[in-house]
Amino acid sequence: MKKNKFKIAVFAGDGIGPEIMKEALKILKIISDTKRINLQLCEGFVGGIAYNHFGTPLPDSSLELALRSDAVLLGAVGGPQWESLDYSIRPERALLGLRGNLGIYANLRPIVVFDELLDASPLKKSIIQGIDIMIVRELTGDVYFGKPRGIKKGKNGKRKGVNTMTYTEDEIRRIAIRAFEIARTRKNNLVSADKANILETTELWRDVVTEVGQSYPDITLKHMYVDNCALQLIRNPTQFDVIVTTNLFGDILSDEAAMLTGSIGMLPSASLGKKTALYEPIHGSAPDIAGKDIANPLAAILSVALMLRYSLSMPEEAYLVESAVTETLKEGFRTQDIQQKAKKLVGTEEMGNNVAKNLRKLLN
Ligand code: NAD
Repeated sequence: MKKNKFKIAVFAGDGIGPEIMKEALKILKIISDTKRINLQLCEGFVGGIAYNHFGTPLPDSSLELALRSDAVLLGAVGGPQWESLDYSIRPERALLGLRGNLGIYANLRPIVVFDELLDASPLKKSIIQGIDIMIVRELTGDVYFGKPRGIKKGKNGKRKGVNTMTYTEDEIRRIAIRAFEIARTRKNNLVSADKANILETTELWRDVVTEVGQSYPDITLKHMYVDNCALQLIRNPTQFDVIVTTNLFGDILSDEAAMLTGSIGMLPSASLGKKTALYEPIHGSAPDIAGKDIANPLAAILSVALMLRYSLSMPEEAYLVESAVTETLKEGFRTQDIQQKAKKLVGTEEMGNNVAKNLRKLLN
């Protein structure tokens, strides 16, 4: 029987986090009321606000809440008032703590260009129209975690920096499986980005992805060197459906791809692991605009759509939330970051209310 009771940990965080979270929860509530799913929303503290209350950015109570939940919805963390703290207790450490403890290994970043916002991109309309890419980035391996690492003094007295690129077969296999499965729900095309011509670690990456691909004969797999992939993302981005890549390459490619859309306030993300997944907009806490009711809540709302799709098994409802966002943009509503001539400028709350109105219409 399909599960219809879910526990969601809600961490609004810092800066614009609470403002955009309020709008995201509005949308989630409409879905739970209309579809009669039992959603237990449990709010907790992470980030700077948690540091202020508990002296740590990730208190045990918040971590336990996350571990006991089906999904975590996060706003954003960080801000200038915590920048002088030691790295070990900075707000951003909460994200690493959550990811590590939840066993999260795959970061999914959908890059979609809405027709209504074609002008927001620095690239020509003819190049970006129709972009619908899913970037699947591995999160646990690579130079970010490999050892040895550090800056050492050599015998000649000069310093030397060392980081180590590592991947095990198992780490590559599980992210490859995830990417092939996602490609199956989309257009059946997968590009794996590596640097197998120079780096042995990614030679292994290519071998294992190819092996996994043998179990997915319905998916077209193409290997691409990461430098070419970076170039193709600008030259001909609509050729891509799903891209799977390593932690380091994914970090860079996903930010490059985000810029194709031209607006950071529109992009959601999902981080998937063994059980509990984490959903959050890709932007930070935007302290420069916090508390002014001008932040764009759409990335947070679209993160709810991802949660419905990947953690709550509600793909139709996910699609309806995305359609409600499209409809709102079609009606001409814009927050300041995506403002265009002759469009209706609205604040965070009004934008959320318009998406909510359109979602209710679509659900009826
Ligand atoms: P940022 O994403 O917060 O802001 C960059 C620019 O984009 C700012 O001008 C901001 O006003 C704008 N912006 C961001 N989100 C927006 C939205 N929803 N609507 C309208 N405009 C928006 O990045 P930053 O300024 O480099 O970082 C600010 C703080 O956020 C730092 O403390 C940083 O460490 C933290 N941060 C947190 C996360 C996270 O929580 N996952 C991610 C990135 C940065």
